[in-house]
Amino acid sequence: MAEQLIISISGLRGVVGENLTASVACEYGRAFGAFLKNRHPGRESRLSVCVGRDTRPSGQMLQSALTEGLCAGGINVTDLGVVTTPGVGIMAQELRCNGGAVVTASHNPAKYNGIKLLLDNSMAPPPDAAGQIKKSFLEEDFHVVDSSMPGGLTRDDRTDIVHIAKVVALIDTDAVAARKFRVALDSVNGAGGRVTKKLLAGLGCEVCAINDEPTGVFAHTPEPTAENVTVLCDVVRNAKADIGFAQDPDADRLAIVDESGKYIGEEYTLALAAKYAFSKGTGEAATNLSTSRMIDEIAARAGGKVIRTPVGEANVAAAMLGHDCIIGGEGNGGVIDLRVSPIRDSLVGIVLVLQLLAETGKTVSQLIDEIPRYRMIKDKFSADSAASQRILDMAKKVFAGAEVDVRDGCRFDFEDGWLHLRASNTEPVMRVIAEARDEGAARGYVNQVLSLRKAIPD
Ligand code: MG
Repeated sequence: MAEQLIISISGLRGVVGENLTASVACEYGRAFGAFLKNRHPGRESRLSVCVGRDTRPSGQMLQSALTEGLCAGGINVTDLGVVTTPGVGIMAQELRCNGGAVVTASHNPAKYNGIKLLLDNSMAPPPDAAGQIKKSFLEEDFHVVDSSMPGGLTRDDRTDIVHIAKVVALIDTDAVAARKFRVALDSVNGAGGRVTKKLLAGLGCEVCAINDEPTGVFAHTPEPTAENVTVLCDVVRNAKADIGFAQDPDADRLAIVDESGKYIGEEYTLALAAKYAFSKGTGEAATNLSTSRMIDEIAARAGGKVIRTPVGEANVAAAMLGHDCIIGGEGNGGVIDLRVSPIRDSLVGIVLVLQLLAETGKTVSQLIDEIPRYRMIKDKFSADSAASQRILDMAKKVFAGAEVDVRDGCRFDFEDGWLHLRASNTEPVMRVIAEARDEGAARGYVNQVLSLRKAIPD
């Protein structure tokens, strides 16, 4: 069966040439333009949107079509070229745009592409706004302006400079440079390579970069998980690097390899960033309900606490803004520091971890050993919405002794760990994540859910 075009809060995603074509991108641009005009009624001056893309070969075509749609609706567009997703968010603020758009399918394989939308605060549209844009797109409820009113197109190539300046302002660059770190980097031939190499060189690092050309020809499956970054682990070992960093194609996610060449897992990216943030003082952090409890322990040691949110970058960012959080993000390697932008940013993760290494004089593995160890088990199974609801109802009875949070599926908190069950927004699948001090306990929680699934008919 052909895959469906997915339109969600985080934007639009599809298979290029099948359900995602230039005309789809153009109409999505028109829908976004119509939404922005409704959001700013009666405004005299022209609205503006900055648009960037990751390196996928379809990016230029889709960016051009998206731009055409925006301009046809009378919106001015600034072309940022090949840049990271956080780079677009930063430039939307810098240029005081009314919105931003990134042509990217993030960590998904090469056949996919997508369009991620940002509002003037650089955050993804909240659910009601996303719903309006989707409705406008599906109903083709937008109009084109006449010959005197089309939007104009300008180019701005300053994203790397602006992005790097904001990121290095978070740290003591002299302290990092004095350590002359040897850093291995795998940017999967995505948008992160160019800007990250500049950042690291500016911090006095010796960079051993692989897959750093912006070709969009992914050297491996692009999600920065353990099985996909084995070559980076070899580079760290062979080069005797202090640390290895792996990015996804739009460079909002970061995974870390320790000095022995061991992949430490994406959950540790936010944990290490939080370890640094809480070493400077106390405060609040925010993360989603599926992220490791490590951050709660790190915050608690510093007298701070963690705000939990439903899954989704926009939910975490909104909580961070509401609570003036000192750090936040998601367990998939996405670190957010509001001083840079409300978007997950691998460059932010990189500088905070390098600063932590520089200040402590410790290795990555020594820092990891200081963080309370948890074991996480992830699983998923087929379940339509009715089956998912039945499983959630049954789980509430089975785990009646646990503290339960029902804002996003069900999260059960136990003394020794937690369990999160949630139905996918995009496919008839239920995801199960459990974490506990002991791997057997985490597996036990998952197995209990799997037995609930078996108890109901398909
Ligand atoms: Mg991404």
